[in-house]
Amino acid sequence: MIERTLTIIKPDSVEKKNTGAIIAHLEKEGFEILAARMTHLTVAQAQAFYEVHKERPFYNDLVAYMTSGPVWPMCLQRDDAIAYLRKVMGATNPAEAEPGTIRALYGESIERNAIHGSDSPDNAAKEIAFFFPGADLV
Ligand code: ADP
Ligand code: MG
Repeated sequence: MIERTLTIIKPDSVEKKNTGAIIAHLEKEGFEILAARMTHLTVAQAQAFYEVHKERPFYNDLVAYMTSGPVWPMCLQRDDAIAYLRKVMGATNPAEAEPGTIRALYGESIERNAIHGSDSPDNAAKEIAFFFPGADLV
């Protein structure tokens, strides 16, 4: 089934100039980019985006990291996009990610792990609306 999902190229990737390589990797895996923009999240935006993790011990560090530099949120489309993106990204901890996955290739730690991907259809819809509100995605 053709689905849409939300990815974010995270600050560590932008800082290390891995943005182009990660976009090329995603395109090679068959994702179509429906929308993309570069933005520098405010603390309030990062807190809202990661609200589900509010009670987790790493929440404040995660917000600090995600606001440390610019990011690239993108809306991606593909067959089975949500699950397939998670597979292409690899495990949260790059040390445990399958070889050849984006996090294995470009992540440096469980926090600075290169890329975000929505984890369910509900969250994909919410996260796409968060970054591309009212967008007429073609
Ligand atoms: P994922 O991004 O794989 O869906 P989570 O939703 O569990 O992972 O966590 C969101 C983000 O929070 C992770 O991508 C990572 O940047 C950070 N994070 C997760 N777990 C930890 C941890 N134990 N310590 C530090 N940062 C973490
Ligand atoms: Mg998650």
